[in-house]
Amino acid sequence: MLDVLIIGAGPCGLSAAIECGKRGLSTELIDKHNVVHSIYLYPTRMQFFSTAEMLEIGGVPFAISNDKPYRDEALAYYRRVAEHYKLQISAYEEAISIRKQDDGSFRVDTRKRGGVESFRAAKNVVISTGYFDHPNYIGIPGEDLDKVTHYFREAHPYAGMKTAIIGGSNSAVDAAMELIRVGAEVSVIYRGKEVSENIKPWVRPLFESMVGKGRIRLYTESQVTEIRENSITITAKDGSGQIVDNDFVLAMTGFRPDRKLLSSSGVELDEEMEKPRYNPETMETTIPGLYVAGVIASGRNANEVFIETGRLHGGLIAEHIAARP
Ligand SMILES: Cc1cc2nc3c(=O)[nH]c(=O)nc-3n(C[C@H](O)[C@H](O)[C@H](O)COP(=O)(O)OP(=O)(O)OC[C@H]3O[C@@H](n4cnc5c(N)ncnc54)[C@H](O)[C@@H]3O)c2cc1C
Repeated sequence: MLDVLIIGAGPCGLSAAIECGKRGLSTELIDKHNVVHSIYLYPTRMQFFSTAEMLEIGGVPFAISNDKPYRDEALAYYRRVAEHYKLQISAYEEAISIRKQDDGSFRVDTRKRGGVESFRAAKNVVISTGYFDHPNYIGIPGEDLDKVTHYFREAHPYAGMKTAIIGGSNSAVDAAMELIRVGAEVSVIYRGKEVSENIKPWVRPLFESMVGKGRIRLYTESQVTEIRENSITITAKDGSGQIVDNDFVLAMTGFRPDRKLLSSSGVELDEEMEKPRYNPETMETTIPGLYVAGVIASGRNANEVFIETGRLHGGLIAEHIAARP
């Protein structure tokens, strides 16, 4: 039986596996895709807002020529770290449920590619399944049309098209800047008074300049209330609406962790924030031996935990497990 099974090989799951391994605990990771799948899904040319040093795990230096890495550099770094520590990773295997057994250990049922069912037995389980599989849906008519995406990868498909970006975060602003470069018509619709104060400081002035020049149409204190095949309706705070021609909608409305796996284990959730109850000093949930690491530990506010902070959870978990008799 494994000492520790870690579900989710994102940066925080990898970090937890390294820390457990360093303390001599037999550890395996499973991931329903491949390592750091969330970073793989980032926009292809995305640059992190964190410096490379703040993304490091396992004490392995993240050496690059800029201070802030690009997506492909981070993919290479985390792959390399996993190799360096010879982590045991079962890719393309999804955890379906977690059940505590009478002897205090856990049985985790899994499904591999092609639907083959399997399971793992482990004394301790760490859930580090992140949040990128579950976009925050807006819940408006037309959101299910093919022209709507919650994931922006590259600008090319939108060249010369009328695009609407919903949101005012880094993702929305980055996408807008890429889209104007390929000659798309860009409208950014955001319910706040102004775009997020967390916009990368080296991007903000460029964005504001493009808004000033009319290259990007910015609708603040406004919401998209309906999406149709060739247009969208934008409704302002005062209730006035306008119909704008549109080919594609990029809904950059953020993500939320999936609580299905947590719920299957019987972990107590804070009802208001859907946050698992856990001890922040050990990351252990209300079920002894069951831990959370990374973004899954945050509530509906998934922006509460980043790689910068979530990477530290693994050390707390490994310390706690190793200290137990
Ligand atoms: C565009 C963008 C830019 C960002 N920039 C930064 C930044 O500059 N700095 C920073 O600190 N953070 C940044 N973040 C946030 C960062 O990506 C997350 O905080 C981080 O990915 C969380 O890591 P994690 O290990 O908790 O989860 P994730 O990275 O989401 O990894 C979870 C893993 O679990 C797997 N999984 C899910 N469900 C299951 C299951 N049932 N069974 C098995 N495997 C499963 C997934 O396939 C995935 O590989 C950014 C996020 C985005 C979207």
